[in-house]
Amino acid sequence: MTEATASEFAVDPEETIDLLQRMVRIPSPYFEEHDLAEFVYEWLDDRDLDPEYHHVSEPEITEYEGDNVIARLEGSDPDAPTLLLNAHMDTVKLVEDWEEDPCSGRIEDGKLYGQGACDMKAGLAAVMKAFEALAEVEANGELRGDVLLTAVVDEEGPYGLGTDRLIRDGITDDCDAAIVTEPGPILAQEDIDNPALLLGARGRYLYDITVKGKAAHGSQPHKGVSALVDAGRLAERLTEIEVGSHEKLGDGSVCPLMLNSGSQTLSVPERARLMVDRHVVIGESEERVRADAEQAVADLDLDSEVEIRFREAPDPGIKYGPYVTDEDHPLVGALQDATRSVAGTDPALGYFASVGDFNYLGDRAGLPTVIVGPDGENIHGAGEFVYTDEVVEVADIVTETAAKFCG
Ligand SMILES: [Zn+2]
Repeated sequence: MTEATASEFAVDPEETIDLLQRMVRIPSPYFEEHDLAEFVYEWLDDRDLDPEYHHVSEPEITEYEGDNVIARLEGSDPDAPTLLLNAHMDTVKLVEDWEEDPCSGRIEDGKLYGQGACDMKAGLAAVMKAFEALAEVEANGELRGDVLLTAVVDEEGPYGLGTDRLIRDGITDDCDAAIVTEPGPILAQEDIDNPALLLGARGRYLYDITVKGKAAHGSQPHKGVSALVDAGRLAERLTEIEVGSHEKLGDGSVCPLMLNSGSQTLSVPERARLMVDRHVVIGESEERVRADAEQAVADLDLDSEVEIRFREAPDPGIKYGPYVTDEDHPLVGALQDATRSVAGTDPALGYFASVGDFNYLGDRAGLPTVIVGPDGENIHGAGEFVYTDEVVEVADIVTETAAKFCG
């Protein structure tokens, strides 16, 4: 077989951007992805790519009911590797500050605008076009391994229910590696540009601290115990925790996110609630995070009663653990080769600053997972856009990578 070239697998740029524009025009904030899921299903079905709905139900906390859309190309050799292509269909809730229709899909100066244009309908369009191109590779008998496409719901929501459900239903069990086409460099730990591969991500825990003091007349605060003051001291102390460090992922971090307390009348506040974000690197477990918080409480020797509670989740397995994918993994090599072929340059290597479905794949499912995605600006905000040429480039890189990795 001859060495792959960009032209051999190239997607049609106009069709790719047209697909992206159509999807941006279908609003799909998390928990409201139904119309877009139907669109993705129909698009695949029109091309005889055998899509299936995969139901996602979470009756306990969110009462969410929705559907992932999945499709599989079956390679000729059951022993060849299976590659997962994962993209989320949902966006954040539409932001109010847009000066135009947030779902316009307007294209100007090589930028396509809309809520979710970059995060990550662009990445979704890229994997859909790549999957279509790979179906031809399969039809030519040149695909040995399987390619599994998963367009998932609720990545932006509180629990990543779509990808969580893939894992819990065993759909990722036979996969050997994963590509997630989330926006790349803009959310990287370091200052890099596309083309880039992000080979890991920090993990994240969210916990609540409830502080119970003792009410008293506000003119005599020494007779009470102010939960507000104690929670404030605790918030400051938590930022002084010595966090872990990792050679690839950098440092962990602690950020108190919210402090609720107060008194409408002249009383010493008796209760406070402090919500804390902790980003962790490999080696920092849930036990360590809890122990650190308990130590901060102990250090201050507070008179208030303090309780630390991790966020309730629909399933104990739902957690965003940190992961790193080995630079020497064959998927990384295939991505580097494909990037050279498509973009004519080596990709930058980096690590993701925050968390997402890729943590579920990289940590929980244990899959070597790489993020490669088109970049833009104003992600999650008004004026979000994606660079259209990068959408096409990522589609080509993913196609060629899959053809090689599974070929
Ligand atoms: Zn995203």
